[in-house]
Amino acid sequence: MLELTPGSTHFEGPIGPDVFGQHAPPFRTNIVHVWGAATGGCVEFVGEKRRINRRGTFIASTRRGMLVMPVRRGMPVMPDEAEWMIQRGIADLTSRSLRTTDATSASLRGMACGLIAPRTGNLPANKTQTSAAGCLRLGRCVVRAVLLVWMLTLVTVLGSELPAETPPSDVFGQRRPLLEIDEPRLLAAGLQKIAAEHLTLYTDCPISEEINQLGKVFDAAYPQWCHFFGVTPGERPWRMRGFLIRDADQCRRLGILPEWLPPFGNGYSVGDILWCYEQASDYYRRHLLLHEGTHGFVRAHFGDAVPPWYNEGIAELLGTHFWDGNRLILGYVPRSREESPLWGRVKIVRDAVEKGQALSLEEVLNFGPTAHREVGPYGWCWAATALFDHDPRFRNTFRSIITLSNRPDFNQQFLTRLGDRWHEAQWQWMILTSNLNYGYDFEREACNFARGKALLPSGGVVRVVADRGWQNSRLWLEAGRTYSLTARGRYIVVQDQPPWESEPQGITIRYVNGKPLGVLLAAIIPDAPPDPRTELATPGSFFQPYVVGRELVLSPPRSGTLLLRINDAPAELADNQGDVTVTVQPIGGS
Ligand SMILES: [Zn+2]
Repeated sequence: MLELTPGSTHFEGPIGPDVFGQHAPPFRTNIVHVWGAATGGCVEFVGEKRRINRRGTFIASTRRGMLVMPVRRGMPVMPDEAEWMIQRGIADLTSRSLRTTDATSASLRGMACGLIAPRTGNLPANKTQTSAAGCLRLGRCVVRAVLLVWMLTLVTVLGSELPAETPPSDVFGQRRPLLEIDEPRLLAAGLQKIAAEHLTLYTDCPISEEINQLGKVFDAAYPQWCHFFGVTPGERPWRMRGFLIRDADQCRRLGILPEWLPPFGNGYSVGDILWCYEQASDYYRRHLLLHEGTHGFVRAHFGDAVPPWYNEGIAELLGTHFWDGNRLILGYVPRSREESPLWGRVKIVRDAVEKGQALSLEEVLNFGPTAHREVGPYGWCWAATALFDHDPRFRNTFRSIITLSNRPDFNQQFLTRLGDRWHEAQWQWMILTSNLNYGYDFEREACNFARGKALLPSGGVVRVVADRGWQNSRLWLEAGRTYSLTARGRYIVVQDQPPWESEPQGITIRYVNGKPLGVLLAAIIPDAPPDPRTELATPGSFFQPYVVGRELVLSPPRSGTLLLRINDAPAELADNQGDVTVTVQPIGGS
């Protein structure tokens, strides 16, 4: 019997004759996760991914996939649901060559009807997969679904060849018509063409040296996208076509800005086609191209159903780059505004925090599908994905979640994979939003948030290094009690001739975040991360740290772990050297 429990289950073929009366080779699947089987479920498995070429021979490879299998009260998959399943969940299992033209859809629907006729009078509504009968029925569904996909793949690849096709959807997952590009007409109208291996770009702009390099930039990005998302370069041919537009009216007349395209400010993409409006900044023009290219790459290789924060965040993260004419670095943190004209993502977050409109990490992860009609969410999504990717504690988990695309529980799975790290991410987010700036050193700003231990009556001594951000004293201070903090030490805060040395009171000839460079700061943080908007005005938060200097007598209004740092810009920690010794002493009764 087929048991749909994680880890232990498999079923093996042959699964019967296909539509041509041929027997398929054995099929084997190991179920790793099952959920929601009673109300519309999903099955995640490791199995053989099959592709079928034109001559009907089989290519199989083993990988993890997901079967999105709507199951209602133990009933098998309905025809419409089967079609939805093919478009969304199955795409990663079999191939992406399933076309969604009307004719194909009709034939899919007909196939599905014939293959799995709905049954009635099944299990009661509260039946779950823990029931043996439910398991068996769900199991049959899996077998049927796999068989269905198998047959549909056979049908649909008859006239088409792998590589598969990118779903013709936009960034909201909405399907759009396919745009036919009439190249002779465009060239006759005076547009120019920049051809590269992975991009063909048509433009009505005069071809400057910078514009001429866009194909080279795109090709240089391809192996980096592959590396980031764990795709073997060339595994499946992929390229995009696009338009760099100066005169929108002319492009509308030429049919390359079709009516059905929603209005967009700077860039847009549908399937394998992208649009960018010409920009005054060479940097930002490349950024838009790489942003839309990232969308196209993700869509083609992983499908079109990922949450807005991830979709836009990843496009912002990888769109933000370094380029010197030869070398491209995706996921770069710009060192200055001059290095990234018109980009402005740092400013978005800093301005919002200044106005008291800081967002929590949950709020960013919960951005709805229409949030990105405004520019603000691009800044927040960049900051969130930059934190997840540049902080070593979150990077591996973050890079793994592309495989969750098309899963309805993407965010939930991400948080599950982060586990206790989610709590650290929320606190680290608070630090990031309190001092985000160009060149942000995510690794040196990474802080340990372990709960401190109660301070002994004899007090405690803490060493604080100058070349890192906030550091955990491992001491817990109680609200309402009084403590004295005294600091001794001498350290370098700027490498120069001669180096700038500082003591705990700081150097008043340069200010960072409104406080002297090099001054010793303290924060006291409770166990659970509060709402960032509350923290903005809370004394002792990362937004309102205490200035310790050489000495401070402190009666914290809230209990929490004591954190300390030397005040410096988050981009300029690496050249600091030395440390400070802080003595923490309770004053008065114990
Ligand atoms: Zn986008």
